[in-house]
Amino acid sequence: MLFKVIYGFIITLVLIVAIMLIRTFSYGTSEEMALVELPAPVSYNEPEAIRRLQESVRFQTITINRGDPATLEAAQPWLEFHTFLETEYPLVHQNLQREYVADYSLLYTWQGRDESLDPLMLMAHQDVVPVDDATLSDWDRPPFSGDIADGYIYGRGTQDDKASIIGIMETVEALIKSNFQPNRTLILLFGHDEEVAGTGAEAGVGLLSERGISPEMVVDEGFFVLNDMAGFDAPLGLIGIAEKGYMTIDLASESAGGHSSLPPKNSANIQLAKALLALEKTQMPSHLNSKQVSDFFQAVAPEMSFMKRFVLANTWITGGLVNAQFGEIASMNAMIRTTTAPTMLTGSVKENVLPQKSTATVNFRIHPEDSSGDVIEHVENVIGGIEGVSIQARNKGIFREPSPISPTDNRPFALLAALANKTGDNARPVPALVLAGTDAAYASQISNNVYRFTPVDYSVHDIDGIHGTNERLSIKNFNLMIEGFSQLILAMDSPE
Ligand SMILES: [Zn+2]
Repeated sequence: MLFKVIYGFIITLVLIVAIMLIRTFSYGTSEEMALVELPAPVSYNEPEAIRRLQESVRFQTITINRGDPATLEAAQPWLEFHTFLETEYPLVHQNLQREYVADYSLLYTWQGRDESLDPLMLMAHQDVVPVDDATLSDWDRPPFSGDIADGYIYGRGTQDDKASIIGIMETVEALIKSNFQPNRTLILLFGHDEEVAGTGAEAGVGLLSERGISPEMVVDEGFFVLNDMAGFDAPLGLIGIAEKGYMTIDLASESAGGHSSLPPKNSANIQLAKALLALEKTQMPSHLNSKQVSDFFQAVAPEMSFMKRFVLANTWITGGLVNAQFGEIASMNAMIRTTTAPTMLTGSVKENVLPQKSTATVNFRIHPEDSSGDVIEHVENVIGGIEGVSIQARNKGIFREPSPISPTDNRPFALLAALANKTGDNARPVPALVLAGTDAAYASQISNNVYRFTPVDYSVHDIDGIHGTNERLSIKNFNLMIEGFSQLILAMDSPE
């Protein structure tokens, strides 16, 4: 009898291990797709393109607050930048219709010959983030100089995101010069305030929506090729197919207050601290097994070690372990769930006074599998049993539901996959979730195929420059960008 039990146990164990191994070996392989061939890039004048990017950096189109630029005087850098574009790209301005939207955003339309084709829309933004004065001396070259050193063009906007505008303009100018005439209409939308609100892109998309325009494909910033991501053997061509939502909730905690010489149990601050600890302990649910997260890991699987594949291919057994591990790694945690970040606290204004009311501001980045309603329900459940604490305000300032998830089984994605592969050194195309917000979020109102990808090949170190010190773009990457945009336009223009 005992022998039979042991025998049965061993058989079961062997079977489970066999299933786990089979799953491991087949994990990710179904995602291998044949890469489509891209047309040759257009030829352009490289020294002139570089000079124009250098000059574009010098227009200090800095946005700090929602509503920037707030006055006509503050808007001068934008207006000068527009004049600069007009002067430097005469063919673009002769052949494309240019419209101003929300005062300073630019909407260009290059009418295609075949009206039955829905347009291709490329997005980028004109504004840049400020530079913290305290970090000025850390820059190898001044942040608004456009100086070139060691093969890099320095300055705000070289990565985020003026270089995209210049790259697109170079491409279109060169295409016109080469006598190319589009079959498919090309729309360019260059927002003026992406870093603070995106009202320009919102208005541009609104205008297109009124006109009944629904692009076949929208491409904006958000991801790129990453060639040295820890834990992966090959460069990854990250293509953003969705972005997280954004929501802020204020919690208030109220109690009697009083003098600090006679502190009661559970004063307002203690109650509030309990609520924050509860939110830290009980996070929003993991979406490890959702299609979007699972597609990501299956796409990168061939570049992972056997052990990692073994664990990820078998979340039916290892799910608890994986969730616990990912919960400890900020970047992984942000990929699998809505994140909870307490950011601002208020309490008493005097050291010896207990507050009658203290507040905490908590910022949530909503996973595409959740909604703002789920977040509120979660917070209400978690803080429900804590005395004196309640939700005081929600959705102050910026608020966005997560974007829809764009498909990966269509021609637009296949083209981006090929472009990502070519941009990196044989990079593996990966559908990924953008953790921050971009103007592309608005485009989901008018198109199902919204992607976030710039054809550049970054190392992890390169990313530090975005919103940071020494923002710079290598000349090699700038060329990849111009070539990539032209290949995308040409590929979308030719029949499948
Ligand atoms: Zn940006």
